[in-house]
Amino acid sequence: MKIHDELLELRQKEKRITSEILNKLQEMENCRKYLEMGHHSLFDYLVRGLGYSEATAYQRQACVRLAKEVPEIKQKIDQGSLTLSAVTTAFKHLRKKPVAEKRKVLKSMENKSSREVKAMFLKPTPTIKIKKTEYLDKVHLRLELSHEQHEKLERLKALKSHKHNAESLLMDLIEKELKSYENIQRKSPKPTETKEFCAPKSKNPRQISKRLRNDVLTTADYKCQYPGCESRQFLQIDHIFPVRLGGDQRRNNLQVLCASHNLHKG
Ligand SMILES: [Zn+2]
Repeated sequence: MKIHDELLELRQKEKRITSEILNKLQEMENCRKYLEMGHHSLFDYLVRGLGYSEATAYQRQACVRLAKEVPEIKQKIDQGSLTLSAVTTAFKHLRKKPVAEKRKVLKSMENKSSREVKAMFLKPTPTIKIKKTEYLDKVHLRLELSHEQHEKLERLKALKSHKHNAESLLMDLIEKELKSYENIQRKSPKPTETKEFCAPKSKNPRQISKRLRNDVLTTADYKCQYPGCESRQFLQIDHIFPVRLGGDQRRNNLQVLCASHNLHKG
């Protein structure tokens, strides 16, 4: 197709021009002629002298500086296996690293998308971070997810035909989960009416069934049962007679404690 061929040709020219500009900028950086023109840095020259936007100037400067130590990146940029934005990201993160390491990382960045390159420098966030601020009339939760966790959330939204936004999806899941506990309570007879003192089904004394957990929490009115404490935060099911001393998960050996009192009890 003619228009496609024309664009391909222009794209080739664009690559050549970018490469020529980078070479010329490197010359300029070496002779520092921009100082005589009243510019205090290459960056200042790129913005005020050549009219680049600050973001583009930063990219060009990053390439020039990095290419001084690892010259082969110019060729990679020409070939398209390294992008200017990838090189800029590497420049930001590798500034103080030895040349050998820069070379190695740049090699591993070839043919990766900008997003993949950025992900290479992100510290893994294994858990979801939630920052909570309480007001009189509401609770403000700030949720921080890794890209992977966010992708899972988006996948679930798509599976639900985008009927939900993140907020309504979260509420929907909470409602469903709560109902599953409440239904168990409604269907089952109360543990106190049956085998309270009988040996529990599970052999693992730390394994407490949904039904039992629900009963312990409801009886405690979702509050810490430590004398004088009324906390409803970070509630945990505690074995009154500790598991390490032979205590098990019979109903009469379980109580609700907040995390602080559980820790305090030891
Ligand atoms: Zn407490």
